[in-house]
Amino acid sequence: MTHATRRKLRVLLATSEAVPFAKTGGLGDVAGSLPQALIAEGAKCAVIMPKYATIPQEHRDRMEHLGEMYVPLAWRSVYCGVEHLVHDGVDFYFLDNEDYFKRDSLYGYFDDGERFAFFSKAICEAIELFPELQCDVVQCNDWQTALVPVFLREFYRESDACNNVKCVFTVHNVKFQGQFGDSLLDDVLGVGHIPAAADQLRCDDRSINFMKGALCYSDLLTTVSPSYAVELQMPFFGEGLDYMFRRRASILSGILNGIDQGIWNPETDPLIAFHYGADSIDGKKEAKRALQEECGLVQDEDAPLIVMIGRLTNQKGLGLVRYAMGRIMSEGAQMVVLGTGDADQEEAFRYFESCYPGQMCARITFDNALSHRMYAGGDILLMPSEFEPCGLSQMIAMRYGTLPVVRETGGLRDSVQPYNQFTGEGTGFSFANMNADEMADCLLGACWLYRDNKEAWRVLQRRGMTTDFSWDRAAVEYLELFHALHPEIIPWKKR
Ligand code: ADP
Repeated sequence: MTHATRRKLRVLLATSEAVPFAKTGGLGDVAGSLPQALIAEGAKCAVIMPKYATIPQEHRDRMEHLGEMYVPLAWRSVYCGVEHLVHDGVDFYFLDNEDYFKRDSLYGYFDDGERFAFFSKAICEAIELFPELQCDVVQCNDWQTALVPVFLREFYRESDACNNVKCVFTVHNVKFQGQFGDSLLDDVLGVGHIPAAADQLRCDDRSINFMKGALCYSDLLTTVSPSYAVELQMPFFGEGLDYMFRRRASILSGILNGIDQGIWNPETDPLIAFHYGADSIDGKKEAKRALQEECGLVQDEDAPLIVMIGRLTNQKGLGLVRYAMGRIMSEGAQMVVLGTGDADQEEAFRYFESCYPGQMCARITFDNALSHRMYAGGDILLMPSEFEPCGLSQMIAMRYGTLPVVRETGGLRDSVQPYNQFTGEGTGFSFANMNADEMADCLLGACWLYRDNKEAWRVLQRRGMTTDFSWDRAAVEYLELFHALHPEIIPWKKR
């Protein structure tokens, strides 16, 4: 082993989306927030992503052209520009090829396999050619960057810049694995003649699976909550890759995502009219009254106000809510639902609104400002997901003193401590099974506590509002894992 040196660990975060440049889901939030937190904890961190045509012009105007390169892709050499900008103290590098990235949206094209194979190969090439991009750890995220570990090992072992780079692969959603026809092996990836690579990428006779490649080739695997790391190893959650997660269990860890506690803060949130904090919660009563008025609900302080905010898809356990709606409404609770998604789910909640005027409101739209008012004005956030890799809504709700009722899965299980009526412990309520009566029992138990034991409710609210869901905690955990891959680098900050 070489001499140990104290210096900053250099992390390159490879991602297909990052806030504020491009976002379709939670990955965009992670890539937008984690780098700053890693830097604050004493690492160097840069982000590399595609230069999409959809990146807002104000950011494109600030990009500086760093250079260009030709990326070897099987039998071709493909042009790639490299652009750079600094945003909130983080270096962002954009890989530019208009054939691949000058499109109306990020994903969903016939050649997605080729587009993101190109992106992954271009990342390797950029690490080799641009000194600014040299790193100790490359953190790859989801299938779009899953080929980086494969390419680095198969094509860049001889490169001084690449041969000591450790690959970390982070799973944000195992439902999307990047499965394509195996003609890509020869035509695009250029690994058809390497039996080990071809074998490890294959998932059946005719298809290859990018994520499977990353699971085989990475030095470390992470996912976005400790419970999801266990669930990924089960057939029910693993989407056909559970056997791979079991095989690689010794290098698999779960780190709970954070939330941006600057944005999600009921004391300063500019999108809510009434501010409040853990020790001065009166403003929340006003926020509830305002939300009831806005949504056409009866102005009753004692009626527990249940909010649901999120995609209206099967993953979110909406079947349970639909089944139990009559029982919930007959107990005098109120409900506001905000979300878009599957047509049948949207229709069901519109129908409930017409059945329960003054008690139920469905806003079938995407409305960030309304979501803030709902987190502030609600008493209870309902999130009975079938699976939830991490989940942000439950953490945001706790910050706003809105107690979550969740199913015990993935990140919901890891972030919500269930109420114990004997000890008073807890930050919310949870139930175990995908069973509508079990959910309704748990939810109505929470409603009862809200109405009849204000003191206990207040204690739970305060505990949730003061729990640390910051990215700093996640960054410390990531850096501990990254440093274990590089024992020759002594951490810059003492931890
Ligand atoms: P997922 O990533 O599965 O969609 P999360 O709970 O992790 O679910 O994150 C969802 C985020 O998107 C939350 O911040 C939530 O407030 C926000 N969100 C979801 N749907 C809507 C909507 N219709 N309007 C406003 N914000 C929404």
